[in-house]
Amino acid sequence: MMKVSDILANADETLFSIEVFPPKVAYSKGSTPIQQHLSNIFETVEHLSKYDPAFVSVTYNPEGETRATSIPLAAIFKQRYGIESVAHLTCIATPRSEVAKTLDVLDYFDIDNILALRGDRPECGIPAMAEGECMEYAYELVEEINNHDHDFCIGVAGYPEGHPECLGEDSCRDIDGDLENFIHKVDKGVGFSITQLFLDNDHFFEYVARVRSAGVEIPIIPGIMPVINMSIIDIVEGLCGAAIPDDLRRRLVDNAEDPDEIRAIGIDHAIDQCKGLMGKVPCIHFYTMDMWRPVEAIIEAIR
Ligand SMILES: Cc1cc2nc3c(=O)[nH]c(=O)nc-3n(C[C@H](O)[C@H](O)[C@H](O)COP(=O)(O)OP(=O)(O)OC[C@H]3O[C@@H](n4cnc5c(N)ncnc54)[C@H](O)[C@@H]3O)c2cc1C
Repeated sequence: MMKVSDILANADETLFSIEVFPPKVAYSKGSTPIQQHLSNIFETVEHLSKYDPAFVSVTYNPEGETRATSIPLAAIFKQRYGIESVAHLTCIATPRSEVAKTLDVLDYFDIDNILALRGDRPECGIPAMAEGECMEYAYELVEEINNHDHDFCIGVAGYPEGHPECLGEDSCRDIDGDLENFIHKVDKGVGFSITQLFLDNDHFFEYVARVRSAGVEIPIIPGIMPVINMSIIDIVEGLCGAAIPDDLRRRLVDNAEDPDEIRAIGIDHAIDQCKGLMGKVPCIHFYTMDMWRPVEAIIEAIR
């Protein structure tokens, strides 16, 4: 059994980890064909495995029913490539009654680590489930996982800039309220946390200081995603709710017509971020978007 919390505790330098996201099972018009997507994922893991990642985490997409692909992929990365895998699991699309069965499958495949999430709300609406079956918050999933016979190491998500849905009476993000919810979730028995991506390290360091002053000691792994094209800006600001520093935004906007330059700017910025994190964090988690080249360029620059 290899828990992420033990891997981090035994490391004497900053490690790195990668996230891949499996294809949706139902092909929708305009999306990458499933064969191409799967081959991107395997290429990403194969190429980056030579840098000895601490773990690979595999997302779970409630909308695309990726439970059919997520768990087998996590199992393959562990069994075939010998890389510890972290299977993401979401409250959305996993009724409480199915959790035990899903955990049995993870146990069967020797997967010891789970990232327990509420899940992104699918654009097409949350799949209908019998009333009372659905869990609303990630802490409930943490409780369910800890009730299972297998001793899983559980990770949860953290938000350096606050979760975009946690708003105060002034409709601004309620950073303190979100921190309280985070602590409540961690208190249910959690071994590590991975943060939402951020583009300004100050947000991360201030967040860690707040978490520590609230008495939470679990390892906090910063999430990094290079902004390698203009469409990623929408994901960063919209779905993730991360601020783009003025200077970075100006450089991106000034070069909007030059994809190679945008990519170089995004990678350079991520390299600077990683340089500022090395030695201060247990691990850096790369959101690869199933593309290995930008992550390889960053790792080569910071090694
Ligand atoms: C590292 C990482 C990996 C991710 N992987 C995936 C993935 O694989 N699949 C996917 O669909 N999404 C994924 N996401 C996105 C995530 O599911 C969304 O950000 C989602 O909106 C929140 O999930 P959570 O687990 O943080 O939820 P929660 O911790 O449940 O929080 C959700 C919201 O509810 C609030 N809240 C929590 N507890 C309470 C409470 N007791 N009372 C009132 N309010 C409360 C929180 O402040 C927050 O605003 C990932 C995010 C991160 C950072």
